[in-house]
Amino acid sequence: MTAPVVVAGGGLAGAAAAGLLARAGRRVLVLERDASPAPKICGEFISREAQRYLMRLGVDPAALGAHRITGVRLVRRDSIVEAALPFAGYGLSRRTLDEALRQQAAAAGADVRRGHAVTLARCGDPVTLAVEGLGEIPAAALFLATGKHDLRGLRRVPASPPEDLVGFKLHLRLADSQRSALAGHVEVLLLAGGYAGLQRVEGERANLCLLVQRRRLRRAGGGWSGLLNDLLDTEPHLRARLDGATPLDPRPLSIYRVPYGFLHAASAQDAPGVFRLGDQMGVIASFTGSGMSIALHSAAVAAATYLAGRPAAAYHRHMRRDIGGPIRSASALYRLGRGTPGQALLMRLGAAWPGALALASRATRLSARAP
Ligand SMILES: Cc1cc2nc3c(=O)[nH]c(=O)nc-3n(C[C@H](O)[C@H](O)[C@H](O)COP(=O)(O)OP(=O)(O)OC[C@H]3O[C@@H](n4cnc5c(N)ncnc54)[C@H](O)[C@@H]3O)c2cc1C
Repeated sequence: MTAPVVVAGGGLAGAAAAGLLARAGRRVLVLERDASPAPKICGEFISREAQRYLMRLGVDPAALGAHRITGVRLVRRDSIVEAALPFAGYGLSRRTLDEALRQQAAAAGADVRRGHAVTLARCGDPVTLAVEGLGEIPAAALFLATGKHDLRGLRRVPASPPEDLVGFKLHLRLADSQRSALAGHVEVLLLAGGYAGLQRVEGERANLCLLVQRRRLRRAGGGWSGLLNDLLDTEPHLRARLDGATPLDPRPLSIYRVPYGFLHAASAQDAPGVFRLGDQMGVIASFTGSGMSIALHSAAVAAATYLAGRPAAAYHRHMRRDIGGPIRSASALYRLGRGTPGQALLMRLGAAWPGALALASRATRLSARAP
């Protein structure tokens, strides 16, 4: 039997690519480290571009109970600027979304195995993987979709060291009045030394996802509860939203030093037959809502490139052209929004010209270009 295409990581990009390859009749093996559906650190905002890719795969966020979002609020302490989004987005937990994508891949014929972490055994022709519980597996091609986790031997090399940011994500049940007030909106809070996103997802859940500089976390005592108290003291809008809220997770998920701005460059050192997907290909600054669409776009372009018999380097060059602009624009917006003068400027711009928020969201999105 021919070696399968191995997809390392059954998250968004991996599961999407597996579905496309399996539909085209390829033998596909998906190896996912988590043994059961798990939450993921993410703002959980699904942009229009991401919706298009999901719908093509037969995954409909609305049918999964996603919360429809048509407006954005930019909040700085007690000032709020509000604008309509140029499209309707959705709020859906990653636990639900990623599971639906894995199910579509399995229904298309991919062999989806959970609870198997992958490491690289040998780079070469073929690439050989060492798989927890399954031993060594040679791959016709490797679709590397392990998200923020690098495989030894195939590590990402960011152009500059990642910023000292710590991220947290927590699901909450808000008090009824706050749940109604938040309905239909994504709220982006500009914090001293970071920013936060708050929106509703399916059911009675709201998702709070935030990033702060590590020195702010240290000043607040180094842990989540100290940081939360500090935020409740300094952020009146957040205090009002969380008044009477119940956390739905025992503790928040956290992440450290995300390499925002990373963009993989095809080089002579690249292992042949290795296609980098999603965050392994490029990492866009959060809260622009484009990370998931980049992951899904990468899955579509990688599958099309592989099925056309073209090399991984051609795919990586194509992706750089498609996502380089949005990644650079999002990084510029992030740099502007992290300091006090930039935050004040963003609030003034947003108040004077509500179209500015829509323009910023367009600059950081993929164009409608499909593979
Ligand atoms: C703080 C924050 C907020 C964000 N908010 C948004 C947002 O609101 N909207 C948006 O569009 N994007 C957002 N993003 C970006 C988005 O979450 C990512 O771009 C997207 O998840 C990337 O998908 P992926 O498939 O590459 O990786 P993932 O979805 O992370 O999937 C990787 C999978 O690989 C598995 N895995 C890892 N290592 C191994 C291994 N060794 N062996 C086997 N399996 C392995 C993992 O368990 C996981 O399931 C945010 C990111 C951050 C950090």
